[in-house]
Amino acid sequence: MRRAVLLGLAVAAALAAQTSLKVRVGAETVTLPLERYVAAVLAGEVGTFRSEEALKAMAVAARTYAVLLRGRHAAEGYDFCSTTHCQHIELQGITPRLEEAAAATMGEMLWYEGKPAFTCYTRDCGGRTEDGAAVWNLSAPYLKSHEDPYCAAAKWRWEADPRQIVEALRQSRLRTPEMVERVGVVEHTASGRARTLALRGAGESVRVSASAFRFALGRAFGWNTVESDRYEIHWPVFEGTGSGHGVGLCQRGADQMGAAGRSYREILAFYFPGAALGITGRGLTWQRVAGERVALFTTAPSLDGAVLELAERELRAAAERLHAQAPEGVEIRVYPDLDSFRNATGEPGWVAARTDGRRVHMQPVAMLRSHGALESTVRHEMLHVVMESQAAAGLPPWFREGLVEYLAGGGAHAVTTASGQPDSAMRQRTSAAEARRAYEQAAATVAGLVARYGEAVVLSWVRSGLPVEVKRK
Ligand SMILES: [Zn+2]
Ligand SMILES: [Zn+2]
Repeated sequence: MRRAVLLGLAVAAALAAQTSLKVRVGAETVTLPLERYVAAVLAGEVGTFRSEEALKAMAVAARTYAVLLRGRHAAEGYDFCSTTHCQHIELQGITPRLEEAAAATMGEMLWYEGKPAFTCYTRDCGGRTEDGAAVWNLSAPYLKSHEDPYCAAAKWRWEADPRQIVEALRQSRLRTPEMVERVGVVEHTASGRARTLALRGAGESVRVSASAFRFALGRAFGWNTVESDRYEIHWPVFEGTGSGHGVGLCQRGADQMGAAGRSYREILAFYFPGAALGITGRGLTWQRVAGERVALFTTAPSLDGAVLELAERELRAAAERLHAQAPEGVEIRVYPDLDSFRNATGEPGWVAARTDGRRVHMQPVAMLRSHGALESTVRHEMLHVVMESQAAAGLPPWFREGLVEYLAGGGAHAVTTASGQPDSAMRQRTSAAEARRAYEQAAATVAGLVARYGEAVVLSWVRSGLPVEVKRK
C-alpha cells in the first residue's frame, strides 16, 4: 500500500518520471514498479533458496541488473523480456517472503566507478567462477575468476551419443563432421573451462566454441546434459561440475554462504569483489540509528538525526490520537537525494514519503524542509504506521488516507457528502493536482463523517471496518 503526502506542483513539474519497467510477458507488455520486478525475478530465479540473506543478495543483483540494462528491448517497445535472456520472472510466484527480501534491500545496488555494476549470476559455478572476459568480453575487476569453496562441487556426468551430437549441432546450424568419432578440448579459458572443442570424425576435424556446443545440446535435449563448460572428456563421457556460465554471483554458493551465517553484504562482497554496495553511485550506505521504537536509516546521521526524535514524538502522539499502542520496530529511511528515493520507491518526485506497513521512505530532509513539509510529513506517516497496525482488513484506501489527513490537520474541514471514488485518483501517479484533489476530498469526506457520527465512532471503524451505510455511500 502506498501512503503519500504531496509536495508542491513546482516539484511535480520538474520531476515527472518514475521508476517502472515495461516487461514482455507472453503476448502482453506489463508495467511493473522496480521492486515488484525484483520480487518477480526472485520468484523466477531463486524462489527455492533456504537463506534469507542469499535472497537479499540476489535482490540487489537483480535490481542492479535491471537499472543498468533497462531499455534492452527498447526497439521492440519494452525494457525486458521475461525469460533468462534478460532475467526470468514469475509474477504468479511472488510470495511475502520474496517481497520482504526486496523490501529489506530497497534501493540498494552494487556500484563500480560511479555506475551500476554488471551483476550477472549463475546457477552453480562448480567450485571456480568464470572470468567476465571469457563470456562477454567484459574485463571488470569485480568479475575476475576466483575459487568458490561454498558450492561444494556436485558432479554431473553425460555420456555422448555421436548421432545425437551431429543432429543437435545441425539443428543449431553449427558446422560438424558427417560422423563424430571423438571430441576433445583444444583450448581452455583462464578459469579452466572449455573454450574451444575439436570434433573429429569421417577424416575431418571441426572446431566449435564450447558455449555454442553446450547451447546446441541444451536446446535439443534439455539443460541437464552438458550443464556447464567446466568438464573433462573421457570420450564418450563428459564429466564436470557447475551449471551455467559461471560468471558473477554463484547461486548455489550464495545460498550456502547464507546458510552458514554470512550476511548479504558479505555474499555480495565475495562474488563481486571491489564493487560497492550502496544506494547511490557516490557509495553512500545506510547507517542505522536506533531510538526507542523507531530505527532511522540514513546516509548522513548528523544531518538527519533530528528526524528520529521527531518521529518518536509523532509516533506517541499518533498512538494517543488513535487510542492505540505505539508499535515497535518502525523503520524510517531518509534518502540522500531524489534519484535514490525514486529508484527505491518508484514514486514520482511530488510524493514526499511512502509507508509500507512499519517501513517509511522519505525524501531528503533538506527537500522537505524547503517546502515546510518535514513535520507534517513525519506526522502523516506516523499516523499511517499506527493505523496500519490496527486496521481491519478491507478498510478502503479513501478512508485510511482521509482519516490520516483529517487527524494530521486536526481542525475542522468543510463538510461534504460527496464521497465519490477517490481511490483510483489517489493511486494514480501522473497528475499531482488530481492526486491532491483526491486526498482533499477524502479528508473532507471523513470530516463529514466525524460531524455526523462523532470522532470516537469514526475512529472505532479503523478496527471494526466501515458500517454498511457508510460503505454504500
Ligand atoms: Zn530479453
Ligand atoms: Zn560456486
